[in-house]
Amino acid sequence: MTTTVRRLTGLKPSGELHLGNLLGAIQPMVRDQYTSDSVLFLADLHALTVAHRSRSLRETTLRQATVLLAAGLDPDRTLFYVQSQVPDHAELHYLLHRTTVYAEAPVLQAAGILLHDATEVPAGADQREHVALTREIATRFNQRYGATFVVPDVVTPPVGARVNDLANPTVKMGKTTSSASGAIGLLDPPSLVVHKINRAVTDSETTIGYDPALRPGVSNLLEILAACVGGSPATVATGLRGYGELRRATAEAVLGLLRPVQAAYGTLARDPGYVRRLLAEGAEQARARTADTVFRAKRAIGVLT
Ligand code: AMP
Repeated sequence: MTTTVRRLTGLKPSGELHLGNLLGAIQPMVRDQYTSDSVLFLADLHALTVAHRSRSLRETTLRQATVLLAAGLDPDRTLFYVQSQVPDHAELHYLLHRTTVYAEAPVLQAAGILLHDATEVPAGADQREHVALTREIATRFNQRYGATFVVPDVVTPPVGARVNDLANPTVKMGKTTSSASGAIGLLDPPSLVVHKINRAVTDSETTIGYDPALRPGVSNLLEILAACVGGSPATVATGLRGYGELRRATAEAVLGLLRPVQAAYGTLARDPGYVRRLLAEGAEQARARTADTVFRAKRAIGVLT
């Protein structure tokens, strides 16, 4: 069992990646990949429970992989693969499912995290409860069968851990739950990004102030702006004189972040074979690591190994 820092996160290919994904999970992974052992996988097995068409799942998975590479994920630094291409996910899921009393989805998530002996799970705030379940599953297993799994911590970014829907700023921006104009897709054309930010729900006050409970719309724009340019939402608010300025500054900051991602995507998307090959290599490397964890779990449970 390793004790070094290993950061792992998963993204479900169930829709288009959005600004919340970038700020809450992708950027923190990309930023730390040169200093930490990192793993990122596309959790396609999690996407099977939502109604989907086979072809669109395949296309979404490949597109997400391409966007992640365009966003700076370096496959030489981050172990990067598609979950279903590493059967150990399914095997550990099965073993945990047979030996614990938790519902299927938390067990699948736990299997994905525990397979890699991850110590940290960088994620948005919505994952805190889910990772708490993984901790519980690992802890109970260890108590029952002896020390087998590393118990991971969730790590959320100080700003941008919960980006809300622009049209409905009390709910989080999501891949499938958001209204059409509430989520900024990472591949949205610049004019659409500006349009969505200009239409974002604010309030009838005249000054800019950060107060997520009472002023969710304005606070959400400040949170986005701060996450893009650095600093805290309260400090970025001080330089702004009105809602027009806030919208302009936010749009400029978001476009500044998305422009290089979209440019790199344009190049990478021309060569899907390259992306598929990278993923296949990643899966092979992952299998070499994860086999050991499954073996450990089997030994602990007592099946003949
Ligand atoms: P999902 O979109 O559910 O596959 O989530 C992928 C990653 O993005 C997880 O780490 C989430 O916590 C993170 N994430 C999803 N939506 C948001 C959001 N609105 N704000 C911040 N992080 C988010």
